[in-house]
Amino acid sequence: MDTLEIEATIRAISARLVTLEDEIRAAQPVRSGAVLMHLYWHKKQGLCLGCPHPIWKQWRGHPYHPVRQWQAHPIDNPLARIRRNQKLSALAKEAIAITDLRTDLIQALKTMRRVERKCSALNIAQLLPSLLNGSSKVFP
Ligand SMILES: [Zn+2]
Repeated sequence: MDTLEIEATIRAISARLVTLEDEIRAAQPVRSGAVLMHLYWHKKQGLCLGCPHPIWKQWRGHPYHPVRQWQAHPIDNPLARIRRNQKLSALAKEAIAITDLRTDLIQALKTMRRVERKCSALNIAQLLPSLLNGSSKVFP
């Protein structure tokens, strides 16, 4: 995988997370206990590869309040709370898996870019022959 393929995959994953947010909402009734994935963007969009950032929350209604109030509580393990809904569980597993993959891809991309900058600074065309000759004169 080269950096362009990694960037394209990161963008595709981010786009899929946007559709998953709606699919996860639609996969369950609006009621107390609903588990939703909310997406958050940094204010300066375009600078962060990890946008949008998923945060899982469980919604709680207060049935005895005259005007039903809803509160969302962040949760760490959404899968543990939605086991009974297979469709919702499958969507959540996909969201978690591609978010994890995106995290790894972002890290890989950062490493590749750093290595490219180092190689460029060292002039790789000179570095390789000198290394093969058992000399590392290119290093200060
Ligand atoms: Zn971000």
